[in-house]
Amino acid sequence: MPEDHTVKIDGKRWLLRFTRLTGDAAGWTYFDNAKRPRILIDERLRGGTRLETILHELAHAVLGPTISEESITELARVQRRVLTALGYKEVHDESGR
Ligand SMILES: [Zn+2]
Repeated sequence: MPEDHTVKIDGKRWLLRFTRLTGDAAGWTYFDNAKRPRILIDERLRGGTRLETILHELAHAVLGPTISEESITELARVQRRVLTALGYKEVHDESGR
C-alpha cells in the first residue's frame, strides 16, 4: 500500500509517494504540468539507499529537468555521506510510521 506525503517545492504541492516500483529504478520524478507533479520512491529501500534516493529525487524536483543526472547523483551522494558521518539516522516511531 503506497505511503503518500505532500512536499511544497517553490510554492507548488508535490506528491511524494513510497510504493513498489517495477524495473531497475529506485525512484522517479515527474514534472508534468497536467497532473500534480510527483516523486515515486521504491518502498523496499532501506537505510542509506533510501536516504540517498529521497535526496536524489528531491534534487531533481527542486533544481529542475535541465540539471545533469551526474550532478544530481553527486549531490545526493555527498549529502548522504555527510549526514551519515554527522550521525543522522532513520528513526521509526512506535506506530510503525
Ligand atoms: Zn536521477
